[in-house]
Amino acid sequence: MTGLLDKRKFYIDGAWVDPARASDLEVIDPSTEEALAVISLGDGADTDRAVAAAKAAFASWSRTEPAERLAYVQKILDIYQRRAEEMAWAISHEMGAPQDMSLDDQVAAGTYHTQNFINVFKDFRFIRPLGDHAPTSMVAWEPVGVVGLITPWNWPMNQVTLKVIPAILAGDTCVLKPSEIAPLSSMLFAEIVDEAGLPPGVFNLVNGDGPGVGTQLSTHRDVDMISFTGSTRAGIAITKAAADTLKKVVLELGGKGANIVFADADDKAVVRGARHCFYNSGQSCNAPTRMLVERSVYDQAVETAAKVAEETPVASAHQPGRHIGPVVSRQQWDRIQSLIQKGIDEGARLVAGGPGLPEGVNRGYFVRPTVFADVGNDMTIAQQEIFGPVLSIIPFDTEEEAIAIANDTPYGLTNYVQSQDGPRRNRVARRLQSGMVEMNGQSRGAGSAFGGVKMSGRAREGGVMGLEEFMESKAISGWATD
Ligand code: NAD
Repeated sequence: MTGLLDKRKFYIDGAWVDPARASDLEVIDPSTEEALAVISLGDGADTDRAVAAAKAAFASWSRTEPAERLAYVQKILDIYQRRAEEMAWAISHEMGAPQDMSLDDQVAAGTYHTQNFINVFKDFRFIRPLGDHAPTSMVAWEPVGVVGLITPWNWPMNQVTLKVIPAILAGDTCVLKPSEIAPLSSMLFAEIVDEAGLPPGVFNLVNGDGPGVGTQLSTHRDVDMISFTGSTRAGIAITKAAADTLKKVVLELGGKGANIVFADADDKAVVRGARHCFYNSGQSCNAPTRMLVERSVYDQAVETAAKVAEETPVASAHQPGRHIGPVVSRQQWDRIQSLIQKGIDEGARLVAGGPGLPEGVNRGYFVRPTVFADVGNDMTIAQQEIFGPVLSIIPFDTEEEAIAIANDTPYGLTNYVQSQDGPRRNRVARRLQSGMVEMNGQSRGAGSAFGGVKMSGRAREGGVMGLEEFMESKAISGWATD
């Protein structure tokens, strides 16, 4: 075990503590396939201890002044920014984001969300009048209680800040269970919280897997809410596990975004769409993985997307530059390979990439940026989330058909529209069944909610809606107004 980082402890009640029982798991660097650190997988005793600490802290934390909570979050943000390089290192080594992208995008996403929460929190009114028609009626926003936060490996700090920051601003106390595949960034985040001097028990971290700590949190009587980001499979399991205690369950799940490219799209639309699909090695739930292209520009789009794939460098996360890194694990690599094979077997036309490692690579979980043309929307590669750099291109003839194909999926997270015809863009946006629609490469404004519909879950994270997600509203009447 020499040379491995020893990360076996948990952060509970303001201290780093040993697990109740030894249960080691190695963290693997996907660029090298070598073990990098060892963590512990918690068991019921660890979960109980963390939940008890959170429960005990809730009584006083929930009654602190909002300004006090805001000051702690500001401190967390200051330390997070100071330790950005360390954070980028952790993310890059645990999940394979290339070092520059890790700092500029992965770490920056955490800064961005935290700053947005700070901005909206300053104006947040915890108690407001219902309306002029009911002068003594008020709506009060109150913390939910102890919240269990379960996060995935693909955008570690994005997810952690979208959950921990609003939870503690709302007055909740929390237990974070990060992905066991990429836990190092969250452990560094716990160090940051500790350095900020948050009262013991307000934030706790227990490492573990889904069947263990994940299920223990979901079923726990003293956990009032679960906020989860990850696969639809796990979201369903959590919903069932949480049913007996009727806790609040908020789910951010997978996606199979359509990117509708009309013939009048701007020149960069196809390049932008293909790059977005390959970004983070395809490991984003909102990736535009189905490119729907109007028939008159279809052949050109296929050629352009194939060229983008061929020109997308794939290399170690430890190298500087704008390449894409490996995918996170052997298991994900195997899954992506079998889906690429399935695309070939089901008759899609492979125009770039394909199975196997990129040329000249013999270790690391690297995947060739891959493009399939002539994909039928009923094919497996168009229906299942691949979570790798694999783009499926589907032709369409009419606006009506494009909308029908886009909506013909179990998922509903983000869809994309490319057209210079404003009224058409707006019309299509309103008919797409998804929590988000991004058009002509314009990203959503700061504080707009991230979340989906259908099998993508129905959470709304970020901004003021993401703050309210971690609270309960209380309707009060007979409020004294003088
Ligand atoms: P995963 O669902 O296997 O794991 C996510 C987290 O849930 C991990 O912490 C894991 O330990 C835990 N978990 C697994 N099974 C559980 C169970 N039965 N009960 C409780 N916890 C359980 O997913 P992953 O492989 O880590 O992440 C990839 C998936 O996450 C993709 O499908 C992706 O689309 C989705 N995702 C969605 C969003 C979003 O915001 N909608 C963001 C990122 C990732």
